[in-house]
Amino acid sequence: MSTLTRLDLLALDDDLAEDDRLLRDTVRKFAGDRLRPHIRQWFEDGTLPARELAQEFGALGVLGMHLEGYGCQGATASQYALVCAEVEAVDSGLRSLVSVQGSLAMYSIHAYGSEEQKQRWLPGMARGELIGCFGLTEPDSGSDPGSMRTNAKRDGDDWILSGSKMWITNGSLADVAVVWARTDDGIRGFLLERGMKGFTTQDVHHKISLRASVTSELVFDDVRVPEANRLPLAQGLRAPLGSLTEARFGIISGVTGAARDALAATVDYATTRTQFGKPIAGFQLTQKKFADMAVTLQQMQLTARRLGELKDAGRIKPHQISVGKFANVRGALEICREARSVLGGSGITTEYPVLRHAVNLETVYTYEGTHEVHTLVLGSAITGIDAFR
Ligand SMILES: Cc1cc2nc3c(=O)[nH]c(=O)nc-3n(C[C@H](O)[C@H](O)[C@H](O)COP(=O)(O)OP(=O)(O)OC[C@H]3O[C@@H](n4cnc5c(N)ncnc54)[C@H](O)[C@@H]3O)c2cc1C
Repeated sequence: MSTLTRLDLLALDDDLAEDDRLLRDTVRKFAGDRLRPHIRQWFEDGTLPARELAQEFGALGVLGMHLEGYGCQGATASQYALVCAEVEAVDSGLRSLVSVQGSLAMYSIHAYGSEEQKQRWLPGMARGELIGCFGLTEPDSGSDPGSMRTNAKRDGDDWILSGSKMWITNGSLADVAVVWARTDDGIRGFLLERGMKGFTTQDVHHKISLRASVTSELVFDDVRVPEANRLPLAQGLRAPLGSLTEARFGIISGVTGAARDALAATVDYATTRTQFGKPIAGFQLTQKKFADMAVTLQQMQLTARRLGELKDAGRIKPHQISVGKFANVRGALEICREARSVLGGSGITTEYPVLRHAVNLETVYTYEGTHEVHTLVLGSAITGIDAFR
């Protein structure tokens, strides 16, 4: 029996529909053949062939796969969730590439864009030939995006955009940046194209988390943006928050992949590593750790599955997404930290995926709403009292 099968204590796999199993196995094979053999190197080097990978993800049909039309697959949310788990089982940075493209950039254009904008960008983005990014966070505006300073002023048929965005995934790669800016009429979304005069990017270096991902600063120095590049249906902060709700859904399932991979690698190690004359998996203290980790993982997978059902039924609410991000990212981090201890000294290198997953999850804990912000969302849902300020 494989380690993954043994870890599926509640036999969740048995209930996968045939189509879903086929999709899951196809993406798992792609991840195993194409991504896993290189991930250590990409992580250590802090670079990855992102354009090439985007096209391969596009050929696999997973970019914006849960959107309808414009070259997208129209898959279910539950299918998208399965894909996120398989990609993040290799690395959270790779899942970020997929989910920023599909859930943040493409979703924003799909939900808030004009017909012309959708026709122009979405088919190429679904193929991975065009890359998108999503610029909401700024150097002085993170958890409180309503305090953003980037602004757009009307000038005839154009807008003049100035300011900057920080920590933007895929930023320097992007052919199109979905940028949120303050206007006299409230917050609005704009599509900034690579090469527009005054629009520059600079990558963030020296990261020790999410190294297999491009993270950039975007700078707007009086960029002239035509009115045709404004997202007509995006009005107010609700629009970017709607896109974030989409992307957080992918994270909830994605992190089950990272945790599963860390745990499986650790079980395999512990059954072959011998100390005091027997495999370390045979010690009760180690088994207690495995019981805790495996049960946490199954609870995370159940949470992800339930949220997939709610989303597919069109009934999911933002605070339910917060339940998932709160529980699953915390659970994944706990699993990776505990698993690292079972590996002993071997756990601190990239030979095993465990600590790489753990340091990646530090980013996932913070981006798309910090753990504390989701705690406050839950507090508000439970008590009816907002405690954000
Ligand atoms: C690798 C990486 C990739 C990213 N990609 C993107 C991207 O593609 N697009 C994008 O727009 N952003 C992106 N982000 C930014 C990310 O979303 C922000 O880092 C996040 O929202 C937190 O903002 P901040 O870092 O400014 O922290 P802050 O908001 O300054 O928070 C610092 C601490 O204060 C806490 N805090 C803040 N307010 C409260 C409160 N009211 N009550 C209690 N505690 C509070 C926070 O929870 C946190 O612990 C990325 C970040 C990283 C690290």
